[in-house]
Amino acid sequence: MSSPIDLIQKLDQEHVWHPYAAMPNSDPCFPIKSASGCDIHLMDGRTLTDGMSSWWACIHGYNHPIMNQAAKDQIDKMSHMMFGGLTHEPAVSLAKTLADTLPANQTCQNENERLDKVFFSDSGSVSVEVAMKMALQYHYNLIHTGASSSTTTTTTSSRPRKSKFLTIRGGYHGDTFEAMSVCDPVNGMHHLFQSIIPEQIFCSRPEIKFDEPWDEIDIQEVSRTMEDRHDEIAAVILEPIVQGAGGMRFYSPQYLHRLRELCDEYNILLIFDEIATGFGRTGKLFAMDHAPGVLPDILCVGKALSGGFLSFAATITSLKIANVFSQGPAGVLMHGPTFMANPLACAVSNASLDILKSYDLPKMIGSIEKQLIEELEPCKESPFVQDVRVLGGIGVVEMKEPIDMKVMQSKIVEEGVWLRPFGKLLYTMPPFIIQKHELRKITKVMVSIATRRIR
Ligand SMILES: *Cc1c(COP(=O)(O)O)cnc(C)c1O
Repeated sequence: MSSPIDLIQKLDQEHVWHPYAAMPNSDPCFPIKSASGCDIHLMDGRTLTDGMSSWWACIHGYNHPIMNQAAKDQIDKMSHMMFGGLTHEPAVSLAKTLADTLPANQTCQNENERLDKVFFSDSGSVSVEVAMKMALQYHYNLIHTGASSSTTTTTTSSRPRKSKFLTIRGGYHGDTFEAMSVCDPVNGMHHLFQSIIPEQIFCSRPEIKFDEPWDEIDIQEVSRTMEDRHDEIAAVILEPIVQGAGGMRFYSPQYLHRLRELCDEYNILLIFDEIATGFGRTGKLFAMDHAPGVLPDILCVGKALSGGFLSFAATITSLKIANVFSQGPAGVLMHGPTFMANPLACAVSNASLDILKSYDLPKMIGSIEKQLIEELEPCKESPFVQDVRVLGGIGVVEMKEPIDMKVMQSKIVEEGVWLRPFGKLLYTMPPFIIQKHELRKITKVMVSIATRRIR
């Protein structure tokens, strides 16, 4: 007779697909019962301290009473309603709050450029698709309304000439096809779909680190590429300051200042993907706030938008971009997910933003950052470690060799923490509410792995 835990595990392996996994799945997953705060309770009775925030999302920890209450209150009214022809208070107030919350909007002098037009969708990848569609259709509409600026040459073909995206290597933007086309070509596995993935323009990733002095050399390739090919490029898309799943690297805010100038010079839109970095993770409310005054034309948010409560995302743009749609041949933006602006997701997102506003964010993330720097320090002496880096609530130990997850995952769990390394990267981005002793548990395990005390 197998135990209920064994049964769940067995049925899971037989029938349920997991992220980036084989089917049937030879790597058993750990069945969980519940979670609260930074604790993940396994069905077998063990409790793990969470070092992952469920992939950047669950910033307030699990089972937060305020978020739960907001969800329950909304469920009693309605959990979903179609968004075509109908609207509701949770969506309207969330859109308004997002626009008012973006620090970059507060310094923006030009009403046309304020990011205050919000398109809600159900996942980060979809919000990226919408952003890319917006950028393509923007240039298409400009050409076809004759409103094109001098740098946009009108074409006779029906394809807009500005139809490519420029991005940097090492990025991650999601797993749908258009999003995949701007992920790193190597670890984004472009070779698997070579003939169907739209071909985009890649430049080297920034080399100058977050706190290193700026050197113009870091943006030279982008600058030259734009000079040569600006009439093909609709937009630049990248993750500001932190490249997440594509390598966990942090780069200079000055890069964003220069990129904004170059995009303006060549009539290229700028898209920031803050799906991982948004809502406080880097110590500022948004990563782009490390480069004050720099505003993208289009912004993608997701993950922590709903505090990790529900799958939810948004693409936010300005009147400047939105207006062109009204004047274009279609007159509209041709996108509309079934679960667009789901009221339940909007309600918990409003609650999450309220909770976020109640934090002293610089102090909260500052203390996580300080602890990560101090406690990951011993990793630097390990002969197995390539690099150790910390920014805000993100701690990364880059190993010289890939971590063998078939062995390591259960060893990590045996230590009573939840970490999910990938490739050479051993990293944590804990819930913001994590206590000092909980974080110490996580960093201790990271140091043990990095120094091969656990192997
Ligand atoms: C996770 C992520 C996405 C994709 O979001 P999903 O909700 O998984 O579709 C896109 N961009 C970045 C930067 C991300 O971290």
